[in-house]
Amino acid sequence: MPLKLLKYGLARDYPVTGDIPATPDLRKSYDVVIIGGGGHGLACAFYLSKYHGITNVAILEKGYLAGGNTARNTTTIRSNYITPEGIAFYKEGVELYGEMSQELDFNVMFSQRGQLTLAHSETTMRSFHLRAEMGKHMGTRLEVVDQKQVQELCPHLNMDYGGALEILGGLWHEDGGTARHDAVAWGYAAQASRRGVEIHQRTEVESINVNGGRVQSVTTNRGEIACGQVMIACGGANYEVAMKAGVRLPIRCYPLQAMVTQPIKPWLHTLVSSVSLHTYLVQSSRGELVIGGGSDPYQSYSTRSTLDMKEHLAQGAVHMFPFLQNMRLLRQWAGTTDMTPDYSPIMGASPLDNLWLDCGWGTWGFKATPVAGKYMAQTIANGKVPDILRPFGMDRFTSFELLNEMGATAASH
Ligand SMILES: Cc1cc2nc3c(=O)[nH]c(=O)nc-3n(C[C@H](O)[C@H](O)[C@H](O)COP(=O)(O)OP(=O)(O)OC[C@H]3O[C@@H](n4cnc5c(N)ncnc54)[C@H](O)[C@@H]3O)c2cc1C
Repeated sequence: MPLKLLKYGLARDYPVTGDIPATPDLRKSYDVVIIGGGGHGLACAFYLSKYHGITNVAILEKGYLAGGNTARNTTTIRSNYITPEGIAFYKEGVELYGEMSQELDFNVMFSQRGQLTLAHSETTMRSFHLRAEMGKHMGTRLEVVDQKQVQELCPHLNMDYGGALEILGGLWHEDGGTARHDAVAWGYAAQASRRGVEIHQRTEVESINVNGGRVQSVTTNRGEIACGQVMIACGGANYEVAMKAGVRLPIRCYPLQAMVTQPIKPWLHTLVSSVSLHTYLVQSSRGELVIGGGSDPYQSYSTRSTLDMKEHLAQGAVHMFPFLQNMRLLRQWAGTTDMTPDYSPIMGASPLDNLWLDCGWGTWGFKATPVAGKYMAQTIANGKVPDILRPFGMDRFTSFELLNEMGATAASH
């Protein structure tokens, strides 16, 4: 070990400063209070400070920075959704990922290597044709591929699972990719705090004090603060936190699990998912295979991982790539996902004048981090919901203008 490195390791003072300042004292009031220091809260603060000149902003995070679902997700980024509203929104999300490292001066390791979704039945193939046509119409790179093309895209795939689930073709989404989740959060946090945004870790919102149809203040474990505008971006805790303001969201929470194997040399060059097996795989930049699937079948706030899900995901992965059967698992974990009835998020206004919602991200919110941040900041700054967000308002559940994305979110997030 070089002597310099050893001296550095043993030193009491470190010559480098962290990207995120230590949590400051709470002020008596802020123009904007963001509840939840995950990717969405941080991205919104970044856009508020950089593009709207609003810097008197406090992010209140009950735990540590981005320790919620932002830290737990499997980082699938894509725009191959079903509804025109969903495709337009996520398409811009993918584009913003493309420029994110530059924008944040922070390497978020965006890797646009394409996503392949496998079809094992004629019904799935038919639905892929529909999605491909809709995607192409909206300008995303999406096409139906046959067996031969599937093999070319992913030569290691077992095309015939013992005759039981033969691969008939797939949906190839060249725009799909991944990014490093911690880097996304830290990049936004660093840039926002550089512009004056305060990040308060270990600061839990215990109550939201409403009077005259507005939020007047929030009470935290570190004291009460008055607020001009408030945004809720609390991931799996969105329902509970909104209830503190008397707002009942159409959300139910389900655990979602994932796991990683030991690292091996790079061999899987696309994201691969199977609708029928409810399993997807991606190889991380460290060489680990990240394996995920659908949500647990019951509502719960538990973040314990289960043997059932481990077996299910391992089975799916080995079906697709039999040579993985001797791989060792390193970790398995779970997060709490806030699911809406139509599998689309809830963004925009709440019944209270100055309370804004960035909720219902379920199993699909990481890819939306930049685009939700951009437009939620615009909403808060102008007091008006922009067109791109309007279809995602909570009022769609009373006007029955639902955005059904169930078929596009089921197994690959
Ligand atoms: C296993 C798994 C895999 C996933 N895979 C994908 C994927 O591949 N692609 C994708 O797009 N999405 C995926 N998701 C979903 C994605 O992770 C989330 O939708 C996204 O991270 C939500 O970000 P957020 O900032 O809204 O919430 P979070 O990152 O959860 O942040 C919310 C924060 O609010 C804080 N908070 C809660 N209550 C309070 C309170 N009272 N006071 C103060 N702070 C509070 C929490 O501590 C938390 O840090 C996955 C999720 C899981 C669990």
